[in-house]
Amino acid sequence: MSDNNQTLFDRARQVIPGGVNSPVRAFKAVGGTPKFITRASGSHFWDANGVRFIDYIGSWGPMILGHSHPDVLKAVQDASLQGFSFGAPTQREVELVEFLIHLTPSMEMVRLVSSGTEAAMSAIRLARGATGRNKFIKFEGCYHGHADALLVKAGSGLATFGNPTSAGVPPEVVKDTLVLEYNSVDALEKAFEDHGPEIACVMIEPIAGNMNFVRASLEFMKRCRELCTHHGALLVFDEVMSGCRVALGSAQSLYQAALPGFEPDITVMGKVIGGGMPLAAFGGKRAVMEQLAPVGPVYQAGTLSGNPVATACGLATLKAISKPGFFTSLTQTTESLVKGLSDVAAQAGVPFCADSEGGMFGFFLLPELPTNYTEVMKSDSQRFNRLFHGMLDQGIYFAPALYEAGFVSGAHSMSDIDATLEAAKKVFKTLA
Ligand SMILES: *Cc1c(COP(=O)(O)O)cnc(C)c1O
Repeated sequence: MSDNNQTLFDRARQVIPGGVNSPVRAFKAVGGTPKFITRASGSHFWDANGVRFIDYIGSWGPMILGHSHPDVLKAVQDASLQGFSFGAPTQREVELVEFLIHLTPSMEMVRLVSSGTEAAMSAIRLARGATGRNKFIKFEGCYHGHADALLVKAGSGLATFGNPTSAGVPPEVVKDTLVLEYNSVDALEKAFEDHGPEIACVMIEPIAGNMNFVRASLEFMKRCRELCTHHGALLVFDEVMSGCRVALGSAQSLYQAALPGFEPDITVMGKVIGGGMPLAAFGGKRAVMEQLAPVGPVYQAGTLSGNPVATACGLATLKAISKPGFFTSLTQTTESLVKGLSDVAAQAGVPFCADSEGGMFGFFLLPELPTNYTEVMKSDSQRFNRLFHGMLDQGIYFAPALYEAGFVSGAHSMSDIDATLEAAKKVFKTLA
């Protein structure tokens, strides 16, 4: 029988670099041929050979309700009949932003854009414009999209001025990007000691999902806030992945619960808030946000920003996840997966640890949870690749790379979890 995935991949590679429109889809890290997806429903999708998979990537985060949720489908269908894009304001943009502010009160005003990359890039420009400073801090292993100044993760331990991670990024573009070790209070204090008056902002993934799943410790987050406030820098939360995913109030609500009065100055959102459509946002205090054009001097714009179909999809998604009990039940499903996998690994004698929050999880082939990128890197990639392919062969689709978080949706049932754990039992035996 011919393999339609292979045929499509061969065709794709002739006309699309690497055959994919975003690198991690290519299975480069794990080897093999990527699945070409033809359709999806609930917690499942089907590839070009008609094989069904339980989906634990959820489009890398957005599909928190699972695929083709009836409320979302209806909202998108209705909106599309009214027109695709107008280049003029609409009521739905206002409604979506009001809803976001209701869920995330640290944002008093919000600007909508079309991708997380755009939102993070614009947040940096805004922070620089609002403070009149050029330098900013990011952390090793955190991804903030592919804007030039943010494409740096080099350096470990001590504060290092960034070296670009990608070709095509001139060193002068990243010379003001300071890269520090995640969760290192010492590195943070040293950076502010050396450069305090020049630092526009600290940008952080509060629960990092681009080095698998690593939480910022409370102590570290508290210091981030204190040092930013003390030195007049802005604290920027990149919640593109964690936003409306780890909790209805996003990761910041978890830090707020532990640190009374805690707030980021700017929040960057994406993924879930668009429900699978190209939609992202950044927001913050009124005084900061009113630095943006047309009110203020910081320019930012977008032809498709606040797109009427995307906002309909996002709004329907946010309303559905706001229903009472949604996050409680999502959290339980995710926890039963994570606990089940840990038990299976323990029975097989494979070093394993895992963590989750809301509908987001991560697991490592390590004896204990890592706290920074260097520790994440110690995870056994050969073993991970065997785990990935073993699960895939049994219809379980985990992220095809060791450094990615996983996602559970409201459509995942206990029978999906049971099927996943049954498959895991077989695979872990071969890993021991
Ligand atoms: C996905 C992601 C981005 C980039 O968003 P895109 O929509 O892919 O441009 C930025 N920051 C974080 C934390 C992300 O997970």
